[in-house]
Amino acid sequence: MITIEEALEIVLKETKVLGFETVNILNSLNKVLAEDIYSKDNLPPFDKSAMDGYAIISDDTENASEEKPVKLKIKGTIKAGDFYKGQLKCGEALKIMTGAPVPNGADAVIQIENVEADNEEVAIFNPVEKNKNILNLGEEIKKGDIALLSGMTIRPSEIGLMASLGFSSAKVFKVPKMIVITTGDELIDVSEELISGKIRDCNGYSLMALGKNLQADVKFYGIVRDDMDVLFKKMQEAFEEGDIIITSGGVSAGDYDFVENCLKELGADIKFSSVAIKPGKPFTFAKYKDKLFFGLPGNPLAVINTFEQFVSPAAKKMMGKSDIHNKQFKVILGEDFKSVKGRTNYVYVNIEEKDGIYYAYKVGSQSSNQLLTISKANGIIILDKEMVKAGEEVNGRFIFK
Ligand code: AMP
Ligand code: MG
Repeated sequence: MITIEEALEIVLKETKVLGFETVNILNSLNKVLAEDIYSKDNLPPFDKSAMDGYAIISDDTENASEEKPVKLKIKGTIKAGDFYKGQLKCGEALKIMTGAPVPNGADAVIQIENVEADNEEVAIFNPVEKNKNILNLGEEIKKGDIALLSGMTIRPSEIGLMASLGFSSAKVFKVPKMIVITTGDELIDVSEELISGKIRDCNGYSLMALGKNLQADVKFYGIVRDDMDVLFKKMQEAFEEGDIIITSGGVSAGDYDFVENCLKELGADIKFSSVAIKPGKPFTFAKYKDKLFFGLPGNPLAVINTFEQFVSPAAKKMMGKSDIHNKQFKVILGEDFKSVKGRTNYVYVNIEEKDGIYYAYKVGSQSSNQLLTISKANGIIILDKEMVKAGEEVNGRFIFK
């Protein structure tokens, strides 16, 4: 049986970046930018007022004081969106709104709260510095300068920035089409009544949610009965349509575990079919026509664990992300833990921080069918030996990050 590290290395070796597409900026959210973006314009595109107030010539206010305010003649008003064609002269002021272009001749704006004014004149009580309350042309970014770097994950702020720079679309790395198939005669959909022997399919939902969490383009092919022919057809179809194909269940040694047989029949290249991981040992990885196939176990906890450990880094690599690995850190055990010999154990825990140190505490049964355990946990610890004592240091990480 191969180790987790060996398995991940094989998976990533077989994973290639998918390529690029140009999308509307709104659809680029959380995708990876595939080109450097240079500014086509200066931002701001003109000297603009940062305040509601009066555009003035700063030298006019040199001798202003409480006792002897300087009085300037108001020549008009400039709203945001307007453009004042004239030239401001000594002894004059223009009322100006936030965002409006500073008129020719003016070199400062005094805030409305700091003056006294009627319709004719504005009185100023203190000298105003040059450039006060003016956002200068090109202050944020100059025309031709680099604004965004290829490889970054696009956040809402980058979408806003692209809009202000006049880019309505962006070149991004493609996201994988992820097909999810759940297998098992015992499975019924969430909307159906529980009848004897049946259980609700939870893996279909958690897998789709895991895929969505990664921004993958997820499609659910539904529950497939434990029937070799039906499963074969579904898998064939999935390989036509998807970049990543995920099944749950049917990869163990049971009489009705057909996933591996289907892969063989299709001619897929099975790279490995079990990994020394708990939960998640029966786990098949195969490659077929440049598509990645992950045959996850049926147990719900094992599904989430193997997805996070193997599918997630592969999907991130496909979509051009540079930071594909789960971030680990040192955790001190808050109590004694037991684990299973010969496999790397991922134990779902509550990680608490005290004075900059992380501590791990139990949250419940680690039986691989108990999703309730994960819902009480915020992290996992990784155990390589059977008995680990309170106070020992191990690696851990937060989940769903
Ligand atoms: P299998 O790997 O198909 O033998 O399934 C292992 C265990 O996981 C069995 O107890 C199944 O009933 C359960 N299981 C399989 N698929 C699902 C699913 N989609 N949702 C919930 N439980 C499942
Ligand atoms: Mg099954």
